[in-house]
This record gives sequence, structure tokens and C-alpha cells, in this order.
Amino acid sequence: MLDFLGDLRRTHMCGGLRASDAGKKAVIMGWVNRRRDLGSLVFLDVRDRTGITQVVSDAETNRTVHDKTVGLRNEYVVAVIGTVKRRDANTVNKNIPTGEVELVADELRILNESKQPPFLPGDTVLPNEELRLQYRYIDLRRDAMQRNIELRHRVALAIRDYLSSQGFFEIETPFMTRSTPEGARDYLVPSRVQMGSFYALPQSPQLFKQILMISGFDKYFQIVRCFRDEDLRADRQPEFTQIDLEMSYPQPERVWEVVEGFLTAAFKSAGHEIKTPFPRMDYDDAMRQYGIDKPDLRLPAFTEVRDCFAAENLQTLAVHAELPVIAIRIPKVGELSRKERDDLKPMFHSKGGAKLFEDFKRIEKSFPDAAAKIRAKAAAAPEDLIVLVTGSAQSGGMESHPANKRKVTPQEMAIYASAGLIRVALGQKYAERHGLFKYGDFRFLWVTNFPMFEYDEQEKRFVAAHHPFTSPHEEDMDKLESDPAMVRALAYDVVLNGTELGSGSIRIHRQDIQRQIFHALGLTEEEARSRFGFFLEALQYGTPPHGGIALGLDRIVMILAGADSLREVIPFPKTARAVDMMCEAPTPVSEAQLKDLGIVVKPPAGQK
Ligand code: ASP
Repeated sequence: MLDFLGDLRRTHMCGGLRASDAGKKAVIMGWVNRRRDLGSLVFLDVRDRTGITQVVSDAETNRTVHDKTVGLRNEYVVAVIGTVKRRDANTVNKNIPTGEVELVADELRILNESKQPPFLPGDTVLPNEELRLQYRYIDLRRDAMQRNIELRHRVALAIRDYLSSQGFFEIETPFMTRSTPEGARDYLVPSRVQMGSFYALPQSPQLFKQILMISGFDKYFQIVRCFRDEDLRADRQPEFTQIDLEMSYPQPERVWEVVEGFLTAAFKSAGHEIKTPFPRMDYDDAMRQYGIDKPDLRLPAFTEVRDCFAAENLQTLAVHAELPVIAIRIPKVGELSRKERDDLKPMFHSKGGAKLFEDFKRIEKSFPDAAAKIRAKAAAAPEDLIVLVTGSAQSGGMESHPANKRKVTPQEMAIYASAGLIRVALGQKYAERHGLFKYGDFRFLWVTNFPMFEYDEQEKRFVAAHHPFTSPHEEDMDKLESDPAMVRALAYDVVLNGTELGSGSIRIHRQDIQRQIFHALGLTEEEARSRFGFFLEALQYGTPPHGGIALGLDRIVMILAGADSLREVIPFPKTARAVDMMCEAPTPVSEAQLKDLGIVVKPPAGQK
């Protein structure tokens, strides 16, 4: 079909022609982005993923070509053979790299027609997202999406190159496997051959990568899809891509060094220099200073201001005198209006009796001394917003909490966490005013020394804070049974601008300890054996100490693209209801298929 190209073996990319090509023959192929008909002159913008070339057809010099342009519509696929010509000075388009030239068409082929698309790649106003997802192939033709997908490619390639240069092998692990707990529901795949049995799609390759360490591949990585059936939040996808890695014999610092290395390469591929090593912070400090385990370092930390108040002030304010009194400062927000203050109240989610003082002016009026000290201690400029979060006089009742001996008690933690959430909410709400969320300001952080267990208030027992293969600190081992609250995990998270990019840990490599952990988590021998028997078995065959981490590729690319949704950087994403709008998955399947699998679908209760 393309034989007319003759000996012009090389076609040109639409974004590639320059003034220095003037006088040369060129062939381009692409979509009609726009057609302007000026009578005897027709201009076509022909587009491919590299850009746009203006094609000109002049009825006076080439009638045949000109006649063909009459039938052209947006998104038709064409091939144009022509001669590159410099544009007249007054028609140069400085906005595009090919703007100094045009291609004078000698020959035009319509390679395919197109239905009128529901929106055009060149439209400046975007249609609603459902339509974009339904016609994803048109949406992906848009410049911004082409750039995002290219960025994704470059980032993944840089990571692969870096890890490979450090001796890591990329090794595939199965998608049809058995369940590994990462805290979500499994997607199940029914087996036809063994009717009634199911594979689980991996929530992560956790156990396989650990088994690869037992198998002698001491540096593994994989850019891999993971599947988690959870109720989708704004920044989640049921299938997502992780940069998963594992290595034998590492200290946590060695894992961090590798991650910092590949992130440096990834960010460089997107044109950004980042500074390493990243700062490190204990979980306790993160909670005390930011009230969250993924602090956004672009906004100021809390200031503890209890000592700015006289004892009777606290009493008057009905503030608990022994719990933290936290000042949150958001720069340059200015004074809040009455309405803005009212809007703030529902944004505050009080835990453990935490109280919000959103009207600092009133504090200033009633307690001028305390307010002045707070301003000074928090280094607040007059235009900075200050809100206070405190315990209320009645806070308490956690005295018998099993984690009460922790450095930060559960009662304090509740105040910090309440403050942490409102700090994040204020930061987001007033982003325009404080101007601290600038693209390109990348503030990385390692958060370490998490507690090994979390206390589940409903179930009244300790549950794993991480997956159950995470190793406790050596020196805390003796507290596993006697005082689980005090056991720290050899776990770490890498955080960027308030987003958790990834988490990992040093693993348990001894079967006896793994057993102890299962026990501490309330798993009986039988349960442990039936779920992880193969793994417990493998651990007994000379397992080297090992550890690793996994980072979300989609998130990294989203941040680098400056996008506000994962869907902007995933070619074929799902909606919040886990639907693929383009191919309309999931769908019911035929009776015959179900029969093969021995499955009978019962409508949920209450539905016919
Ligand atoms: N498997 C963990 C996850 O997917 C990461 C890790 O511990 O390496 O979050």
C-alpha cells in the first residue's frame, strides 16, 4: 500500500523538519490535525507523536493534490510527499519546532478515513473524563498524554538501566499464584482443570522475591503489575505497577542507597537533579513533628506551644495540661474570614478528644502574652495562618491502652494525628496562597523504625503494621510475646512531598522467628501452614538474610508529569468503580464459560 514511497525509504517524523531541511524532499505520515481552506490554498496540519508539520497545497501548481484535500477531515490518516520550504518571515510559527518550514505537497495519499471523533486531540477544552476513558485511543493522541506515556517509558527505562548496572536481574514472577497478604482483597482466577480451586492475582510478588533470594539471585528487581481489590480511593487503581526489589545481606541503608540511585536516574530522565542521601526520620519523630507517617516537608513542622500558656490559660480554654498543644503554621494564608473558619471545622477529624482552635485572633485577644510567645516560637510572620490543636480537658481514658509505654503514647498520638490531618488539609486548601507546592521542589524522606504491631481497637488485639514477613529489630525480639507494643520493625518508607512512594523492610529469614511472628499475630500453626506452608518450608533451606522494597511507578510518573491523577499516566486505567470504560470490563460471561468453571452466580441479596 505504501509502495508509492518508491526509493524514499526514510519517512520523516512530523515534528522533525527544520529550516536546514529546506529544498529537500520529505515524506510524512500522520493524522490530519487541522485543515484550513483558503480557496486555492489549503493548509493541513499533519500530526504524529513527535509533533506537527504544516503541509500546503496550491491549486495552481498541483490540482490533483488540491482536489484530494477537499475530502479530508480531522483525524484522517495521510501520507504526504513534498518539498520542504522555508516559510515567509511573517508566517513563521514560533510556538512549534517545525514552525519555520512547511511541506509543499507533491503527492497526497489518504491511508484511512476517520469517523468524526467525539472530541479532537487538539481541542483546548477537555471533554469529561468518562468520554476520555471511553475513547481512550483518541485521548491518548493528545499531546499531554503522549508526553506522559513517553515520560513513563523513559522513567522505567532509566530505572531498569540503573538497576541492571548495579547487578540486579529483572526476573518475572507468576500472575496466577496464591494469595500473599498486603492488606487488600485478592482478585481470584478460577481454575477449570481443578474445579473449585482458585488462583489469586498477586497483591505483590513478596513471597516470590523472597524465594528468589533463597534461590540464589541475590539482587532481584521487577517492574511489575500488582492487583489489589480494595475500595478505590482517588489515587488508587486495582492494578498498578511497582518497582519491586529484593537483595541478600543488606542493611536497610544499602536498600536506601539503591533506591536513591534509581530515583536519581529516574528523575534525571525527566530533567530533574535530586539530592541524596535523603533525610531520615524516626516514625515517632514524624508523628511528633508532622502528625503523619508521610510528612510533607514543604510545609512547616508543628510547634509545641504548651509552655507558651500559663496554667490558668489552659484551664480557661479547657485544654488538657499534659497533652501536646500544637501550633500549625501555614505561611502567607492571611487572616481567615468567618466563612473560611466555618469551612474549616468539618475538615477537622478529632481523635482522642482533640480540639481545634481555628480562630487565633480570639486567642490573641484573650491571651495576648501566650499568643505573642506562640508567634515567636513558631516564627510566624503576620500574614501566616496559625491554628492550634490540643487535647481537651476531658481527654483521657487511654490509661490502660496496651501501647502506653511507647515514647509517644496513644493519647498523644491521637492529638498529633488529628493535627497532622488538618495540617495536610490546610496545606491543600490554601496551596495557592502559600505557594509552597511548586513543581520541581522534590522533598524526599526516609521514615524508619515503625512499630511492628498496631493495636486494633475493635478486635482488641495487635495486628501486623506491615506484611507479616517484616523482621523485628534484633534487640526487641525478647518483647515479641511480653510487650508487643514496644517492638520496632526493620521497616522503612520512602516519602516524597507527603506521598508514600514505597515501603519495604528487612525480612525474617529464620523459620522459627517467622513462626513466632505468625503466633504473635494470632495465626494458629494450622492457619500459618495452610496459607504459607510452602514458604515456611523454603525458609528452612539455607535462607540468606535479605530485605527489599517496592515503589509505585504510577505515582512517581504522576508526580514527575505534574499530573493530579494516576489515570493521566496509565494508558488504560480504571475508574473509581474499577471499570475499564473503553473495553467495558468487567462483564458477565456466558453460561458455557461459567459451567466450565463450575461457577453459579447468585445475585447479591435483595437483587433479582
Ligand atoms: N511487598 C511490599 C508491598 O508491596 C513491599 C515490600 O515489602 O517489598 O508493599
